[in-house]
Amino acid sequence: MKIDVLGYEYEVGRGYIPGDATGIVDHKTGCIIIDDNLSPTMSAETVLHEVIHAIEYASRLEFEETEIWLLARGLYSVLKSNAQLLEMIGVCNEPSEDI
Ligand SMILES: [Zn+2]
Repeated sequence: MKIDVLGYEYEVGRGYIPGDATGIVDHKTGCIIIDDNLSPTMSAETVLHEVIHAIEYASRLEFEETEIWLLARGLYSVLKSNAQLLEMIGVCNEPSEDI
């Protein structure tokens, strides 16, 4: 799947990643690879982690690796527990009338 991160296009896919890394983002080639042996939760947190790296790159920010993992885990947890937030920000289905 292709995604746009602040004007930069990335192809997001799954694949084998040797070593301890669970995901890779390559800003030069515009590729995000998520290890295909992860649990669904770890896969979701990893893709968010790599997207945050892409935001970091596009914004010329510098986060610590631990900060990125905490942001990814926090975002995943909040969005998974509160799917109505995705609806509210208009990324999932039609917004409810009470929003
Ligand atoms: Zn990272």
